[in-house]
Amino acid sequence: MAKSPRAKAAAGATRADIGVVGGGAAGLSAGIALARAGWSVVLVAPPPQRADGRTVALMAGSVAFLEGIGAWDAVAPHASPLASLSIIDDTDSLLRAPPITFHAGELRLDAFGHNVESATLVRALADVAAATPGLVLVEGSVADVALGETGVRLTTAAGGAIDVALAVGADGRGSKVRAAAGIEAREWSYDQSAVTAILAHDRPHRDTSTEFHTRHGPFTLVPLEGRRSSLVWLTTPRRAEDLHALPAEAFALEVERQAHSMLGAMRLDGPRGLVPMGGLSAKRFAAGRAAIVGEAAHVFPPIGAQGLNLGLRDVAALVAALGRPGGDPGAASKLAAYDASRAGDVRMRTLAVDALNRSLLAGLLPVDALRGAGLMALSAIPPLRRFVMRQGLGAAV
Ligand SMILES: Cc1cc2nc3c(=O)[nH]c(=O)nc-3n(C[C@H](O)[C@H](O)[C@H](O)COP(=O)(O)OP(=O)(O)OC[C@H]3O[C@@H](n4cnc5c(N)ncnc54)[C@H](O)[C@@H]3O)c2cc1C
Repeated sequence: MAKSPRAKAAAGATRADIGVVGGGAAGLSAGIALARAGWSVVLVAPPPQRADGRTVALMAGSVAFLEGIGAWDAVAPHASPLASLSIIDDTDSLLRAPPITFHAGELRLDAFGHNVESATLVRALADVAAATPGLVLVEGSVADVALGETGVRLTTAAGGAIDVALAVGADGRGSKVRAAAGIEAREWSYDQSAVTAILAHDRPHRDTSTEFHTRHGPFTLVPLEGRRSSLVWLTTPRRAEDLHALPAEAFALEVERQAHSMLGAMRLDGPRGLVPMGGLSAKRFAAGRAAIVGEAAHVFPPIGAQGLNLGLRDVAALVAALGRPGGDPGAASKLAAYDASRAGDVRMRTLAVDALNRSLLAGLLPVDALRGAGLMALSAIPPLRRFVMRQGLGAAV
């Protein structure tokens, strides 16, 4: 092994095996999982951002992962089961596909996963992180990442130095760690924004998430506790801004109308958010003494609840690739194993989500025919349905 970076750390610097940059759900999970595996970990993150009505549907594989790192008990009281997933073709195409519903029971599961408000998830993970031995939390942001042959120095905006053997970038789409490691990323944008909100409604959702495929993108209602659902409405940036600016009552009425009153009368029951839609795909998951996880490595539109589920699989793969503590966590062979283990999964899902989103926006009859035929095949062929459902769960079940 190369000379320990810890031995070379300057006086006054904090030292650890691993430095995690970023305190979103991916970063906190990474900090907890790596510390539980026995590594000494420092996690640097600013205080959490305010809630914006965004929720995450955590699929069964992610729930199992959170159970494994001792975090699920803190999240579970706030999470609602997703027993069925419906897709409704709400385009005006001549070749509209029939509605299709997937039931978790077809895979002998009670639920595909659980839906939880993002801000609540991050708060719960932060509580678990604060109580995890071997994990030191530093509030602030990293201003500089200096990658060397034998170690990495993280310098905080407040001027503090942290010397580690491996930097884990969980610092989101504008990742400083990714840039410092020279990892190239392809970025693109869609002519869409997402309006997010939490709504209360008169009719029960029966633990069913419903995705209406409209010509401007999917409009999705995902169950929350009681008669409440979270909304992700992808539409043109102009319309999204208008919707976001509407008074609460008028906004709820627009949502009810777009949902064809499926859940009855609706009322705004929490914060609203507006997110411009784009994608990002890093060329590699590791370089030098840095590894990237979550949105630092991949961003795509919120279709099919993939984003954070992939991020948690990144974390699980990184922990597995690093193996038992004692050696050098930044060793090239370990990071190469991590990179190799994530490439296929992430590329496949990035392509699939992008293709589905663009097929809706295209408005071309042959493209509609292909999308419609795909959905019809899913309706009619049970083994294909089960295969697709398992893929949606992250092939962890
Ligand atoms: C509308 C919408 C709906 C979604 N629904 C789902 C869903 O149902 N299921 C799903 O799996 N995914 C979903 N996603 C995706 C999911 O929200 C993201 O994948 C996830 O939140 C990303 O988490 P992250 O920790 O990787 O990044 P982030 O949440 O962006 O966290 C990055 C963190 O890094 C910090 N940071 C940045 N720079 C620095 C620095 N220099 N120093 C220190 N800290 C820094 C930031 O402050 C932040 O805390 C959805 C996304 C959207 C937009």
